[in-house]
Amino acid sequence: MERILVSACLMGRRVRYDGGAKTSSDAWLAGWREEGRLVPFCPEVEGGLPIPRPAAEIEGGAGGAAVLSGAARVLATDGSDVTAEFLSGARAALETARSHGIRLAVLKEGSPSCGALAVYDGSFEGRRVPGQGVTTALLERNGIRVFSEEQVPQAADYLRTLET
Ligand code: SF4
Repeated sequence: MERILVSACLMGRRVRYDGGAKTSSDAWLAGWREEGRLVPFCPEVEGGLPIPRPAAEIEGGAGGAAVLSGAARVLATDGSDVTAEFLSGARAALETARSHGIRLAVLKEGSPSCGALAVYDGSFEGRRVPGQGVTTALLERNGIRVFSEEQVPQAADYLRTLET
């Protein structure tokens, strides 16, 4: 059975920067959870950041690939540089995925770690730009397909292709 990496906050775990969750009511995710497919993971907590923690954004909205290459940092609202923690969390997510033989993930949209289609632009003014989070970029670079929480039907289609 194919396992699926999923953002822990979508599964109701209170791991977000504000101490809350973003529990998904998606029927596909509920079904996969019943089947025991889901591997919940929070890269930011596993990377060593506390709950709660200051919100963070990728500088310039540059996207996860720029962080992986050292061209951009991840900065928090208190001015601290949390790039190392984000990179550590992304590597831990990749290790966890590999240890389960995982080939697809469904992650929380808009996050500087988990975003698949969009991230915030680094201004902390609530503006999204197209781009990926740091964990998403590292997973995709290593052959793991990442779908946004807004693309779960596409993830289901992809799962079907893996299992046929
Ligand atoms: Fe959710 Fe990902 Fe943010 Fe953790 S890093 S709280 S899993 S969006």
